[in-house]
Amino acid sequence: MAPNEKGFPLLNAPAQDLRHRSKMAMPKPIRLLAAACMALFFFLVIQIMRSPSNVKMPGLDDGKVADMLRDPNLDETGEPPEPLRRVTGHNYAPDNPDSDRINATLLSLVRNKELLPLVQSMQDLERTWNHKFNYPWTFINDEPFTDEFKRVTQLNTNAECRYLIIPKDHWEVPSWINEDLMHESANILEEHDVQYAHMKSYHQMCRWNSGLFYKHPELQEIQYYWRVEPNVHFFCDVDYDVFRYMQDHNKTYGFTVSLYDSPWTVRTLWPETMKFLASGNSHLLAQNNAMDWLIDKERRPNHNHDANGYSTCHFWSNFEIADMNFWRSPAYEAYFEHLDRAGGFFYERWGDAPVHSIGVGLFADKNSVHWFKDIGYQHIPFFNCPNSPKCNGCVTGRFTDGEAWLNKEDCRPNWFKYVGNEWVEADGSSEPVVGGMEA
Ligand code: GDP
Ligand code: MN
Repeated sequence: MAPNEKGFPLLNAPAQDLRHRSKMAMPKPIRLLAAACMALFFFLVIQIMRSPSNVKMPGLDDGKVADMLRDPNLDETGEPPEPLRRVTGHNYAPDNPDSDRINATLLSLVRNKELLPLVQSMQDLERTWNHKFNYPWTFINDEPFTDEFKRVTQLNTNAECRYLIIPKDHWEVPSWINEDLMHESANILEEHDVQYAHMKSYHQMCRWNSGLFYKHPELQEIQYYWRVEPNVHFFCDVDYDVFRYMQDHNKTYGFTVSLYDSPWTVRTLWPETMKFLASGNSHLLAQNNAMDWLIDKERRPNHNHDANGYSTCHFWSNFEIADMNFWRSPAYEAYFEHLDRAGGFFYERWGDAPVHSIGVGLFADKNSVHWFKDIGYQHIPFFNCPNSPKCNGCVTGRFTDGEAWLNKEDCRPNWFKYVGNEWVEADGSSEPVVGGMEA
């Protein structure tokens, strides 16, 4: 049917007629006004249709949600470069007194009530890695472990299990902290939606993980650790000794996930860091440090602004494979001592993740930091999920299974930008070494 077959009189009128009639009905200024209104109307319609991409989500300060070009986890991943130490014969058997294991342990700070979620983590790590290498597990608690905890954990590994209690003076809130001020400060943090603001034990845990765990008397002989939390997942078979990898390749710190932090948890962490360096400690900086990564303000300027000069980029420390001798070094020790005296573990909510990351970023060679891209990992709500036939149970390249805006919390692009992606060559990928995922 043709558009005007229905025969509305006006539509059927000759064009000349229409023009004439409208001219007769509307004086020129009114016509101009009508045209302007129409233009404005169409402009507004177009703006409204485009608006979703411009709407800022609550809590987000800048930029788009999806500002990454391509996740390097989409490129097929093999193993890191040789030398890699593997199982041959009985060299890693649990009861071999002359094994190839080095001075290292799996390390888990955990509460008795977290036994089942811990067993979940243990089973994943035993299945993908430790049943081959049989490194000992060390469980640490601020209270004694129950017999059930000991029995069930030992049932889930052939390796030796050790159970340690944290010395009281490592866990207690230090004497120079004012508990009234701590409470007032927590109220303010809470107003800014800081999680766990009033949970004293959480602050204690962050402080202990930042600067005390490696001082436990029974860990003094141990050099490397792999931190394991309850309720995490491991997805990929790893067929080499990761601790030997750290040693043979001069690595200090290994991570899987890197994030931005909530600036309100660390408002004075960077200013205190600057104070520390300015008061006669700048000589402690590593020659090839990652300062530029720590102070980036391009990608999330408001984070840098609110955290007073710190990008808030950090390695997500619920996964760590690292060398405790670095934490025991004079540089990190002096830095932690300064922070501890400043009080921000209790008056703010400084996490062990930003504290470790700033420590590593300033006092370690940036090439001694390793991205364990090949270790598939999840701690809710983030993943490291590589593209490899050795992985099962996670979606390749997926960074989060939470809401889409969480993708914005990924800080790896910054690490690649300033330090590079060491896997580009190993994977034979055509991705640029630096900045492949930049906005
Ligand atoms: P989140 O991941 O930041 O939400 O914090 P978690 O609740 O997972 O705590 C981090 C780690 O510290 C986990 O391994 C917990 O089991 C452990 N943890 C936290 N608080 C305590 C505590 O009060 N006592 C003990 N023994 N472990 C704790
Ligand atoms: Mn956790």
